Amino acid sequence: MDFIPYATQSINEDDLAAVRDVLTSGWLTQGPAVPRFEQAFAGLHGVPHAVAVSNATAGLHIACLALGAGPGQTVWTSPNSFVASANCALYCGAHVDFVDIDPVTRNMGVAELDAKLQQAERDGVLPAIVIPVHFGGLACNLAPMRELADRYGFKILEDASHAVGARYNGQPIGSRYADASVFSFHPVKIVTTGEGGIVTTQDAALARRLQLLRSHGITRETGDMQHPDTGAWHYEQQCLGFNYRMTDIQAALGHSQLQRLDSFHTARERLAERYDRLLASLPLRRPARAPGPGATARSSWHLYVVEVVPGDGVADRATVFTRLREAGIGVNVHYEPIPLQPYYRGLGFHSGQFPAAEAYAAQALSIPLYPTLTDAQQDRVVAALAEALQA
Ligand SMILES: *Cc1c(COP(=O)(O)O)cnc(C)c1O
Repeated sequence: MDFIPYATQSINEDDLAAVRDVLTSGWLTQGPAVPRFEQAFAGLHGVPHAVAVSNATAGLHIACLALGAGPGQTVWTSPNSFVASANCALYCGAHVDFVDIDPVTRNMGVAELDAKLQQAERDGVLPAIVIPVHFGGLACNLAPMRELADRYGFKILEDASHAVGARYNGQPIGSRYADASVFSFHPVKIVTTGEGGIVTTQDAALARRLQLLRSHGITRETGDMQHPDTGAWHYEQQCLGFNYRMTDIQAALGHSQLQRLDSFHTARERLAERYDRLLASLPLRRPARAPGPGATARSSWHLYVVEVVPGDGVADRATVFTRLREAGIGVNVHYEPIPLQPYYRGLGFHSGQFPAAEAYAAQALSIPLYPTLTDAQQDRVVAALAEALQA
């Protein structure tokens, strides 16, 4: 029986042609495919600036730097995320802390954020940056987060790795409420460039800073030079940057993938609705729907996560997980709380600090969802899940 992964890329003939074309175009990197991809991405997300990078982790790193993260400062993120959401702040020498999740949306909770800010203000340790994560592609409640940011004076950096093309309040995710947003193009995400990421922002100066940081801190723009008269060969390193560039090969693939963003979303949405129906009678908790009608708040459906709630006659999550893997179904757990990773325990975090994230993580199970998943494969997942759930 074929193995059904929890997620996978979808590559078609157009993608192959785009990559073939760029390979013979004369530009493998630092050519025109990168700005073309950036412009297409920015246009689709309704934001003026997009800076493509080698992966979303690199994007989170330079976005933290550009937003001012550094030693003596604190950055908060969600415990229910991939480790990169927190590691990016540590790269900058900042301190990291977490805000517990809302158990229904599994996103950073607004009430939890509000309460933690009040305490932090009393303690004199307010965060410089808060990194909400649109878990599974379902948008965080950004409007009240923006109000809190303005009241307490922190920046918002969205980790929108899951949320390419997702919507909140009728508009695409991408720096409408946040100061900057980072998207991932890893093959399990909504569109892929192999490895890849992008940072969006409304702020031209911030975009300029991100461009410097992604390429060694070097500028070749005459207008930006501190010593413009040196000679035509002249470039300047103006800050300590990195080589976090996206190649033209990646950008060409990404541009081709973006042409199918709508159809990817439609396919994911249809499969998610089908799961909702097929799983309705099983003893598990299904994912929250985006609040509001239609396209007002559209999840990108990166993940379909069910929760195996302990009960009579129901197998525990570990058993369900093992049985499904044995049946050739690539289930996964998104995520074990970041603060419970050994590295973060070494920084002083421990069990019991973020009870909602821990309770959720003990029950979570991501089941296969990607645009080319067939109805027959989905039926196989549902049948195997129904069987695996029996104690
Ligand atoms: C995938 C992911 C990242 C990292 O993305 P890369 O492009 O692999 O570096 C960061 N945050 C979240 C929430 C992710 O899912």
